[in-house]
Amino acid sequence: MRVPRIPTEKLTKDQRADVVIIGAGITGAMAARELSAAGFSVIVLDRRGPLKGATSATTALLQYEIDQPITKLRNQIGEANAVRAWRRSKLALDSLTAKIQSLKIECEAKQETSLYLAGNVLDAEALKKEWQLRNTIGLYTDYHTRASLLDNFGIRRNAALQSYGNLTVNPLRLAGGFLLEAVKNGSTIFSKVTAEDIEFAAKGVIRLRTKEGPTITARYLIYASGYEIPSCVRTNNTIHSTYVIATRPQPKKLWPQKCLIWEASDPYLYMRTTEDGRVICGGEDEDFEDEEKRDSLLAQKTAKLEKKLSEMFPELDSRAEFAWCGSFGASKTGLPTIGEIPGMKNCFSIMSFGGNGITYSCIAAELLTSHLTGKADPDADLFAF
Ligand SMILES: Cc1cc2nc3c(=O)[nH]c(=O)nc-3n(C[C@H](O)[C@H](O)[C@H](O)COP(=O)(O)OP(=O)(O)OC[C@H]3O[C@@H](n4cnc5c(N)ncnc54)[C@H](O)[C@@H]3O)c2cc1C
Repeated sequence: MRVPRIPTEKLTKDQRADVVIIGAGITGAMAARELSAAGFSVIVLDRRGPLKGATSATTALLQYEIDQPITKLRNQIGEANAVRAWRRSKLALDSLTAKIQSLKIECEAKQETSLYLAGNVLDAEALKKEWQLRNTIGLYTDYHTRASLLDNFGIRRNAALQSYGNLTVNPLRLAGGFLLEAVKNGSTIFSKVTAEDIEFAAKGVIRLRTKEGPTITARYLIYASGYEIPSCVRTNNTIHSTYVIATRPQPKKLWPQKCLIWEASDPYLYMRTTEDGRVICGGEDEDFEDEEKRDSLLAQKTAKLEKKLSEMFPELDSRAEFAWCGSFGASKTGLPTIGEIPGMKNCFSIMSFGGNGITYSCIAAELLTSHLTGKADPDADLFAF
């Protein structure tokens, strides 16, 4: 299935809109769609063009299960907040599924179950506690012992949780679908435009200067610039490099239920299957940002991922037909930062980080739309700066 063509324009003269969004990846796309549907005039701009950032590298396992287990997150932010974060993440995925249906976005969306395998972050005993807590807060999950894991999936691990209602999608078609909806609602997308400085003019007006010359005047400005964090945002978040391989199609050799698989380990491993029967397997994250160094490790990381995949499923042909890498932001809690940038009225930043980046993009679009339309979102404080 091809990615739809996104209509873009060249920025040749000054522009004006209610909202200007910097970044035309999945985050900017969802925000543009929600805000334009709420009646705002929206301009989106991107220095590379639409869908050329991390959104083009993602493996698009859309999970409500936050990278940070709830039994660990509660030690960091308290039990009530940890429960809220997990429940909001589940709601966001339900809401995204509903929007895909309502807007008829053809993005190969498929509901999947997930297996979360015991590892060095949560062993079998800790996983049992995680399972009990999830079930007491309404997130129905099954617990597999070593024997039932082997019986049901042919996987040799001490334990695993099985959860339901996660999603796989074609990320470019999903993001493209939201951008097209935003355009239908009157938004304009400017390609190859780099945002530079912001000026606060009289009467609450924000003026964005671009590298290309023309300015954009708006009431609200949103950074949806992915891991390229603007210098005006102070954050403790870090940028990681991550690696992925895709095998050749082998539909007859895939594991039962073809569920998503990820590990309670650091560094972690995850895998999913594709419509045509490939296995996509990723992980081997490294805690650095340097793109040259990241790319130079691709062959070494590919070999490691091939090895780990073949250890898990010896009957699969684990050799990579494709391999790639990318960068993503990570926070200590695994939660995103979404909200008004301190000291910069009406300027917002969405740092929807980690392995749940796309679920968080959905939360961000909802939170900011509520804020700009004067409604209170009950979870805004959880994700604020
Ligand atoms: C290999 C890999 C696998 C992943 N797997 C998953 C997964 O399975 N599930 C999941 O939920 N998430 C996953 N993620 C994370 C997910 O891809 C990201 O959270 C998501 O794509 C971020 O989207 P974004 O729109 O915020 O950023 P991007 O897609 O990077 O878009 C940001 C855009 O901003 C533009 N920009 C930046 N600065 C400026 C500027 N000054 N002026 C103009 N434009 C600018 C860039 O050109 C870019 O196009 C993965 C990431 C990687 C790299």
